[in-house]
Amino acid sequence: MKISFSTNVEKPAQKKKRNKGVITGLVAGCLVSNAAAPITQKVLLPAIKKISSSIKPEDTLILNNAFEKAFFDSTLAEKGVKIIKITKDNIDEVSKELTEAVFNTKYGKKLSNFFNKDVLSFGLELHFSSILQTVTDGENAFYSNVIKRIILPGEKNGLQLANFHEMGHAINHNLGKASRILQKIRNPIIIFGPAIILFSVLSLKDKKNEVDENGEKKKGVRQFIKNNAGILGVATFLPAVIEEGMASLKGNKIANKVLQEAPILLKKVKLTNAMSFASYAITALATGLGMHIAVKIKDNLQAKYEDKQSQKMQK
Ligand SMILES: [Zn+2]
Repeated sequence: MKISFSTNVEKPAQKKKRNKGVITGLVAGCLVSNAAAPITQKVLLPAIKKISSSIKPEDTLILNNAFEKAFFDSTLAEKGVKIIKITKDNIDEVSKELTEAVFNTKYGKKLSNFFNKDVLSFGLELHFSSILQTVTDGENAFYSNVIKRIILPGEKNGLQLANFHEMGHAINHNLGKASRILQKIRNPIIIFGPAIILFSVLSLKDKKNEVDENGEKKKGVRQFIKNNAGILGVATFLPAVIEEGMASLKGNKIANKVLQEAPILLKKVKLTNAMSFASYAITALATGLGMHIAVKIKDNLQAKYEDKQSQKMQK
């Protein structure tokens, strides 16, 4: 039933109720989406670290030599890619180097035209040193496509088995057209996609039911997004998931070539690669679930509100 008029008294109450549904839905969606973080941080990451710390010192040597050979064979160095190993002694030095590298990129040059370079440098160095700290703590390893660096832990207890996966990212970025595009779009889509879905869906005003007054299914872009919020939520992670999958598969392929003589080590590298991929797949599913639940909660509150309104009208 459509309410065609409302009194001045009803108006503010109506608005308040709707916002409640939107905000509750938004909070629930974000909470569920963020549920992936504890799973990946508390389950997968420790598992990956455990595998990495299980390797013996002599294995570390074999691993490093194999990785260096693979890097040399990959021709990544010719594309300007460098490997940097982080220890607590070189964090400051590397933070400076990374900051300088950012200023040498196209975007960095533009940025320094608009902002004070010293202030920017200070902020960037701070930013990099906090990230690099996570690498020395054994919580992180990554490839940066802005500065073309494979950043790895320099000490044994880090994620050193992730090195082949990270080289896979470097290959995606430098040695393949489609994979390069995927790598460039993945993070912006992850940042803006779920936000756009949530806001466009939760701001739909009168969508208690999916049919209109004539009993026909409601149409329109926002209605479509609403009906498929869960799937679309997962889809926003697809470029990242595919790119992660490619990085892991390439990492496996490279490791296969250079670790033939160390089958146990090879197995551990492959397990690490599989888990790195899994952490993204889990995050994608959790995001989809979060979007889905957010819409359901908002619908529920909206329905209750609309029922109350129609009861009031009948009195
Ligand atoms: Zn990765």
